[in-house]
Amino acid sequence: MTLTMSEARSTLQKVYGYDDFREGQSRIINHLLQRKDTVGIMPTGGGKSICYQVPALLQHGLTLVISPLISLMKDQVDALHSLGVRAGYINSTQDASEAGRILYEAERGQLKLLYVAPERLESEWFRERAKQLRIAFIAVDEAHCVSQWGHDFRTSYRAIAPFVRELAAHNYGERPLLAAFTATATPEVTEDMIRLLELQDPELIVTGFKRDNLAFTVLRGETRKDFALNYVRQRTNMVGIIYASTRKDVEDLHSMLVKAGIPAGRYHAGLSDDERAHMQEAFLYDDIRVIVATNAFGMGIDKSNVRYVLHYNMPKHMEAYVQEAGRAGRDGEASECVLLFHPQDILTQKFFIEQSEALPERKAHEYKKLQSMIDFCYTPECLVTYMQRYFGEIDQQPCGMCGNCKDEREQVDITLDAQKIFSCIYRMRERWGVSMVASVLKGSRNKKVVQNGFDILPTHGMMRHLTEKAISDLIYVLIADGYLSLSEGQYPVVRLLPTAADVLKGKQQVFQKVANELKPKVEAAV
Ligand code: ADP
Ligand code: ZN
Repeated sequence: MTLTMSEARSTLQKVYGYDDFREGQSRIINHLLQRKDTVGIMPTGGGKSICYQVPALLQHGLTLVISPLISLMKDQVDALHSLGVRAGYINSTQDASEAGRILYEAERGQLKLLYVAPERLESEWFRERAKQLRIAFIAVDEAHCVSQWGHDFRTSYRAIAPFVRELAAHNYGERPLLAAFTATATPEVTEDMIRLLELQDPELIVTGFKRDNLAFTVLRGETRKDFALNYVRQRTNMVGIIYASTRKDVEDLHSMLVKAGIPAGRYHAGLSDDERAHMQEAFLYDDIRVIVATNAFGMGIDKSNVRYVLHYNMPKHMEAYVQEAGRAGRDGEASECVLLFHPQDILTQKFFIEQSEALPERKAHEYKKLQSMIDFCYTPECLVTYMQRYFGEIDQQPCGMCGNCKDEREQVDITLDAQKIFSCIYRMRERWGVSMVASVLKGSRNKKVVQNGFDILPTHGMMRHLTEKAISDLIYVLIADGYLSLSEGQYPVVRLLPTAADVLKGKQQVFQKVANELKPKVEAAV
């Protein structure tokens, strides 16, 4: 007998009190009710628990939920208890007798859902006891952990497939239904999940990356500190998170806000456990409205009234970005996600990759993900559409509210400026950094310029109508657009890429939606 969606809907209404499923939830649940293995890719906050809990409640037998996050496990089980659902968990925080008691309840059919940490599956004792349970359905949470390409590989996830095989062998070949859920999966990771969890001909459903209440914006060329200070000043009555890449930036921003009289919190791995716990509490209970944090902040934070997430730096990849930005607006109210981009971020992230002990293959993979993140910062298309496509979601309609959808500026032809810059770099023999090139184009006669004879280059002073900062910004735009490269190391050098040669030869034009900061700024005569 197959279960119907209307039964599922009435369970949702009766048990959870929600009117209806979200669009992706009903697609996932529909497949599970037909007993088809399913992969659900859904951002944090998308509502994936419902996707396995509702089928669990409708089915005969037990649903095993494999979840790596012990604290979340307890929260989930407590939440289920408050809804009147019989559920339990087994993990390392319990003693053997407690675990034994839960298993005993499960054996007697008294539980609908049992949460276990993946490490359990490596224990012979658990596997034997599990055979006595009538496991109808296994939901694997954070399923990307099975893949080495995911950001959080855990060997114990590799024990899932053999465990399921053992169960099937014990039950004369009858295998439980399997579903894998994750918030972050690139195509490689998805492929790994299907293969390593041995999912059978699964349906893949990517959903929920479009959050109608979030307005995304990427800003390039802002003076970041000033922007952050003004931004927070205008929102002192709102709850917000500012993410920065380094502890130092967190400290700097935090003290800037505090000096400006704004009660702000800070959070990074360099603080003591006590201080971190204290900050987290203060934020959760609205004692402080704004917290400046590294990406260490937020795991398992479910605060619904976050009105903005400000990224002071570009994160290392889209997965991290979507997860962090997605902490805004969990309550469905209009919220903002603003990313302040500076080309320096590219160097910082490259440095992190280089510094890591990862294998070359892995590093190449990280670079690829970084590039997609950089492209997000420069794309003229709808930011939400870009995100959806990155994660493989099919329904793609421009969101109509992101910075790019609302951007009504015209494309400006900047070919001439680009040619001046490329030609100057060429004449300086591709050995200098951005600011030196800008100084020469500006027409500076500082010591370094003169000593190197750059004051007699034909390109010297060719862009004297612009400020040095405006010239530098333009160079950074050309770097990000793939005309120039910036070397690694402490003193990065700008070099020409083949596309720049095409521009110099007049074979290619360069267009830019010119941000106000980049519009020709004539320096005030002193
Ligand atoms: P995830 O596990 O994907 O991070 P959750 O399952 O915790 O997300 O759900 C996020 C929030 O959305 C929760 O507050 C949940 O109660 C709510 N939610 C989920 N599904 C629905 C629905 N169909 N209608 C209304 N609220 C929902
Ligand atoms: Zn948009």
